[in-house]
Amino acid sequence: MTKRFFLPESELPRQWYNIQADMPTKPLPPLNPATREPVTVDDLSHIFAHECAKQELDTTHAWIDIPEPVYEMYKYYRSTPLVRAYALEQYLDTPAHIYFKNESVSPLGSHKLNSALPQCYYCKQEGVTNVTTETGAGQWGAALSYAAKVYGLECAVYQVKVSMQQKPYRSSIMRTFGAAVIGSPSMSTRAGKDIITRDPSHPGSLGTAISEAIELATTTPNCKYTLGSVLNHVAIHQSIIGLEAEKQMQMAGEYPDIVIACFGGGSNFGGLAFPFMRHNLFDGKHTQFIAAEPDSCPKLTRGEFRYDFGDSAGYTPLLPMYTLGHDFKPANIHAGGLRYHGAGVIVSQLLKDGYMQGVDIPQLETFEAATLFARTEGIIPAPESAHAIAATIREAKRCKEAGEQKTILFNLSGHGLIDMTAYDQYNNGDLVNYSYHKS
Ligand SMILES: *Cc1c(COP(=O)(O)O)cnc(C)c1O
Repeated sequence: MTKRFFLPESELPRQWYNIQADMPTKPLPPLNPATREPVTVDDLSHIFAHECAKQELDTTHAWIDIPEPVYEMYKYYRSTPLVRAYALEQYLDTPAHIYFKNESVSPLGSHKLNSALPQCYYCKQEGVTNVTTETGAGQWGAALSYAAKVYGLECAVYQVKVSMQQKPYRSSIMRTFGAAVIGSPSMSTRAGKDIITRDPSHPGSLGTAISEAIELATTTPNCKYTLGSVLNHVAIHQSIIGLEAEKQMQMAGEYPDIVIACFGGGSNFGGLAFPFMRHNLFDGKHTQFIAAEPDSCPKLTRGEFRYDFGDSAGYTPLLPMYTLGHDFKPANIHAGGLRYHGAGVIVSQLLKDGYMQGVDIPQLETFEAATLFARTEGIIPAPESAHAIAATIREAKRCKEAGEQKTILFNLSGHGLIDMTAYDQYNNGDLVNYSYHKS
């Protein structure tokens, strides 16, 4: 029995997939909040690399070439394995076939590097010398710190002050790669100074960190801001996951009936799902696509579709998205990467049009699933990825009840080896559920 499927180097994808070009209903345009006019590539290029800004608004090109130097970097860790989870299947005694794409084997332990590399590459090409970003849990900041080093860029990461204290190892990782890590709010920006003057013991939030990072990008020459989720160009880069998986499923002689990924802003979900979704759009396939979000931050299942800001400070363009409101304060769950108020623009339109569905999962169920996965497959998953595992287990149990042999494919977006405090709390019985209640 073959358990893992790898692509030979000659089969690695040379292009990313941009589903915007193939969507029956194109996403609504992002708007300038002051004028309510659609933003242009030039507007976005003030903050982001020009090439990323172009990809962000590209609704015509379905295939985008992966630059040769990025392809060469991908070869360090791609293809990632497609794994048949025989032990999990056996434990669940399900007729379902369960496969997972293992993005946790990237050097930084999550899928985030797939977009950090091209974003830094484009910055370098365009004469940028510095990149900046915000990070909560730290997965994105860690990936960006390494990618910046690869292309000789200086990197400054604003990390939410309280997460910096709660998860000290992630800042250690970023500093090891040579990034400057600044706890936000800080005295290094006007926005930070204003906050500290008003409240000297402010714990920081993604809102304060984004404000500081954007201020640094717009006031420093040759400095660009980068984002690790939510935006369309990030989902385009992540399509490498699904394009590889498509070929690997072929090697396994199967095609997925159900595709599942956890959902923060939508990049690992879109990355795995969109290449398969194009066969629903064009080739009469009927794959079901499930995005698994926390019960405490359920924008897909209980959010509202409308224009909203991408950040809590209101600095970004207005985006047409499923949202809980940009001032929504999520509970302090351990899946830090899923504590975001909105869904990416592409996913929001696809959900509205019925091409996919969301499910929301309580925190304790995710840790139960994570523990079962660890004990059967030997990998400790990131608390974020545990949402995809929990959704997969629900489907596998449904297959057992119905006596149906379905093929399920889910994305293991990252490992949880630096999230062991969360596992300790779970093992000690100290974790609780936080359900969302509309205020
Ligand atoms: C950031 C992160 C996520 C959530 O981001 P998406 O853009 O929704 O993919 C999920 N899993 C891991 C391991 C992450 O680091």
